[in-house]
Amino acid sequence: MEKYIFITGGVVSSLGKGISGASIGKLLQLHGFKVTMIKFDPYINVDPGTMNPYQHGEVFVTIDGAESDLDLGTYERFLDIYTSKANTNTAGDIYQTVINKERRGDYSGDTVQVIPHITDEIKRRFRALKDNFDVSIIEIGGTIGDIEGLPFIEAARQFQLENRREDIFFVHATLVPYITGANELKTKPTQHSVNKLREIGISPDMIICRTGYKLNSPLKKKISLFCNVNENCVIEALDNPYVYSIPEALHKQNVDSLIMEKLNIKSIKRFDKEWFVKVRLLREFNKKVNIAVVGKYATLKDAYKSIEESLNIAASELDAKAEIHYLNAVDDNGLIEKLRNCSAILVPGGFGNRGIEGKIKSITYARENKIPFLGICLGMQCSVIEVSRNLARLEDANSTEFDENTKYPVIKILDEQKKIKYRGGTMRLGNYKSEIKKDTITYDLYRSVEIEERHRHRYEMNPEFISVLEKVGLLVSAYHKGVLPEIIEMRDHPFFIGVQFHPEFASRPMKPHPLFKGFVRAALERESTNYY
Ligand code: GLN
Repeated sequence: MEKYIFITGGVVSSLGKGISGASIGKLLQLHGFKVTMIKFDPYINVDPGTMNPYQHGEVFVTIDGAESDLDLGTYERFLDIYTSKANTNTAGDIYQTVINKERRGDYSGDTVQVIPHITDEIKRRFRALKDNFDVSIIEIGGTIGDIEGLPFIEAARQFQLENRREDIFFVHATLVPYITGANELKTKPTQHSVNKLREIGISPDMIICRTGYKLNSPLKKKISLFCNVNENCVIEALDNPYVYSIPEALHKQNVDSLIMEKLNIKSIKRFDKEWFVKVRLLREFNKKVNIAVVGKYATLKDAYKSIEESLNIAASELDAKAEIHYLNAVDDNGLIEKLRNCSAILVPGGFGNRGIEGKIKSITYARENKIPFLGICLGMQCSVIEVSRNLARLEDANSTEFDENTKYPVIKILDEQKKIKYRGGTMRLGNYKSEIKKDTITYDLYRSVEIEERHRHRYEMNPEFISVLEKVGLLVSAYHKGVLPEIIEMRDHPFFIGVQFHPEFASRPMKPHPLFKGFVRAALERESTNYY
């Protein structure tokens, strides 16, 4: 079976196209189909790895080391799949492939053009995963009408011409805004954006209308008539902060059966309604737990999307709601005061000097007051610096990322990384194995000696300092190939763990990551003692 569902967006960005697509994918999975999702981003960056999280949110890392858009995290969590390089594409990366081919002479003197060369490369990537999945859901980033999105829409148009129409389904996600003065929901922006799509030659099969209010039947009729879609294919997507309940909301409007009918496919197994029940249960809790995330991007939650998801998932498994407090490490005015209201402290990954001292200060506070601490990547590196300075008395110990000439380079760059000139895609990226030592908190959490986790960093804990630091209570509880420290913990502390990798990318609803589960459990224990 080789079926494709395209998702485009109209009117404005941030409509939740990724979540709508992933929800459709989930429904098809519950019918027994193997589903994957592929993202196409129209910007020129070769990947989002070098983009500012303020503009683009977190960089999600796949197990094979692609630095991708955060939507891939949504796909992985909803569908419980592993994505790869083939699931993430940008205009920059597609042009680079075509230009490299041109330089090699692969086009034998042809004039290389957007149509057909760029569109051919895009279509090749639409098909990239067809052999392993029944349905590929293809999300085209950006908004209809953007100049840079045109080659992708054009490629989708050609794709429908070259394939059987029953193998392709087009979903267009739009906004139906509410105008206060008129007291009315307005369909005009939807009409215009569908017109734009039809100008290019694509007529959507379904319109998903993001709205703050219910769509009544006359309004749906109007959209149906003006946009040339059946009325039952005008779908209401009410604002909904709990994204995992969206598949059920779409199922109630028959989205899955409408799509399956058009694609001419039948359920492979009895529809698994249990998933809706399990998802509903995740929202029921009797406890609350306050957790601080001390980072540089405190005002933009999307910068820590997978961390937030991981904390929420772990908390709900433990019958609790995570109240996450994003604290700014850069402006550390009153930082410690704010930490006093929290039962656990997480220091996430990051790059560059800003906020480092605030993070280190928070770690001292966590260590001295026996507050559960989880340091992720840069957070782990900061904890090594903290212990070096304050317990091992290695004055001004630092990472060479922040002080190249530090006397005590407890975090340093690997020799092979030193030669690298380019910024993008040149870190230690993707899954690496580590071996865990028994009789450690780490082992108690993972209950396994060998693990594989996703990495995204250049610097490492310097093995030369391990013995000095182990004398003052730090313990390296996992190594890569017996030499590179992967996990550290503090003896004589209920939960103080730093990891060189990013466990947050591996959490799934109903399957919390063991580190996050342990961390939130420790936080709950602290919360119940209530002595801060
Ligand atoms: N800046 C650090 C490094 O490159 C940490 C990276 C991270 O936290 N992802 O090693």
